[in-house]
Amino acid sequence: MKIIMLGAPGAGKGTQAKMIASKYTIPHISTGDIFRANIKNGTELGKKAKTYMDQGLLVPDELVVDLIMDRFKEADCANGYVLDGFPRTIPQAEALDKALAEAGTKVDVAINVEVPDENIVNRMGGRRACVGCGATYHIVYNPTKVDGVCDTCGKELILRDDDKPETVQKRLNVYHEQTEPLIKYYTNKGILKEVDGTVDMNDVFAAIVNILGE
Ligand code: ADP
Ligand code: AMP
Repeated sequence: MKIIMLGAPGAGKGTQAKMIASKYTIPHISTGDIFRANIKNGTELGKKAKTYMDQGLLVPDELVVDLIMDRFKEADCANGYVLDGFPRTIPQAEALDKALAEAGTKVDVAINVEVPDENIVNRMGGRRACVGCGATYHIVYNPTKVDGVCDTCGKELILRDDDKPETVQKRLNVYHEQTEPLIKYYTNKGILKEVDGTVDMNDVFAAIVNILGE
């Protein structure tokens, strides 16, 4: 099963993708997580990506496409994957379709997690990420057991630089301009499914399971 998660930054793509990965035993591939790991490890790719990410801009298509194509070669992708944060532009979607067609396969479903901009600002301001394992929480909607400490690995939680209010509006603008057209792209291919992302995260997941099947 090859699944794409669509939606604004902060819509809950990562939260749902982790739940999907666990239930259907496929890897969760987040290009944002891969970039953040590269930044943490001080790689050349990380240095290049950081200049764009810090400004709330998209990393250039060629960097992202090369990175994801390498990731697909890993053994855990044999039975599919759930993509979170990729594709984010029409050229990325076209590159993905081309690569999959060459391999004799295709995307099965694109799930759009629909959340209005008003809610997004609130979501991102309250999002906290673990510096150790990258787990994501929310100070109100999905708090940790101990304030500021990751439930999974015990490390410290931080507010991502690009979740600061001055960058959030920029990222939303970039989303509307460059990523939202993908909704039409996948609608035209007949594989778009919509879920209401404003409800409780378990209810969002129930709607997704309804689409994907038990
Ligand atoms: P994305 O991957 O789309 O950027 P995340 O999954 O990181 O978004 O979610 C953004 C923030 O909103 C996180 O802090 C997360 O805990 C919280 N969140 C996710 N889904 C919901 C939901 N259904 N209701 C309330 N908060 C949510
Ligand atoms: P995310 O964790 O998905 O919110 O991504 C964080 C940031 O990483 C984005 O704001 C972009 O700067 C960059 N990024 C992640 N995925 C992509 C992508 N597919 N194309 C371009 N930039 C990306």
